[in-house]
Amino acid sequence: MPRSQPTVAALHRTVPVYRRVLAVVAHPDDESFGLGAVLGAFDAAGVETSVVCFTHGEASTLCGADGDLRQVRAREFERAAAVLGVARSQMLDYPDGRLSTIALAELDAHVARVARDAATDVLLVFDEGGITGHPDHRRATEAAVSAGRAVGLDVLAWALPEETARLLNAEFGASFVGRPDDELDVRLPVDRRRQRRAIACHASQSMNNPILWRRLDLLGESESLRFLHRGPAESRRDQ
Ligand SMILES: [Zn+2]
Repeated sequence: MPRSQPTVAALHRTVPVYRRVLAVVAHPDDESFGLGAVLGAFDAAGVETSVVCFTHGEASTLCGADGDLRQVRAREFERAAAVLGVARSQMLDYPDGRLSTIALAELDAHVARVARDAATDVLLVFDEGGITGHPDHRRATEAAVSAGRAVGLDVLAWALPEETARLLNAEFGASFVGRPDDELDVRLPVDRRRQRRAIACHASQSMNNPILWRRLDLLGESESLRFLHRGPAESRRDQ
């Protein structure tokens, strides 16, 4: 895969050489709309990717699609994960919109268990603040950080540059949470074509989503990451 070479080099320059990454998200579509380009970059670099999603996204609507919302969203999630090259995907049944009412100990124990089963060496999450400010996103990240601390794993967050968040908030009246440059640890070159194909799998959620397309345009061909937790040094494989 010649296209993967620049991505491999970039990954190895900027982050430890991971073997297996587990993405921890709140909703089906977060893995694509949010983490899609990063998961695609990891996969292209030969890093095995897995996703655990806490809810079925049942608080949303079908936006005109036919069928049972939970089943439609589960199928969309599976297809998108396949497009992104995800080796294992798991959708849990916690309540969409009310993830913060679930005990952190229950959520983090689940993440720790899945991470152990998948022999994960890094957790990938939305930034603290949840990117869009959604409480479910923040809770999913809290659970992953708590699990990362408990089992000694790096936790890497997908984050928005401050200027991107500022523009989106100004144009759409949104509540995106961005980070200044000095809080961003990695600038990762990405190829968005696969992410866009994964997004298209979530037809019930992506058809009328101008803020998503604008964010992808503003971010261009890179994503930003920051460490929320570093595991013990001896367990890392820094180069
Ligand atoms: Zn979400």
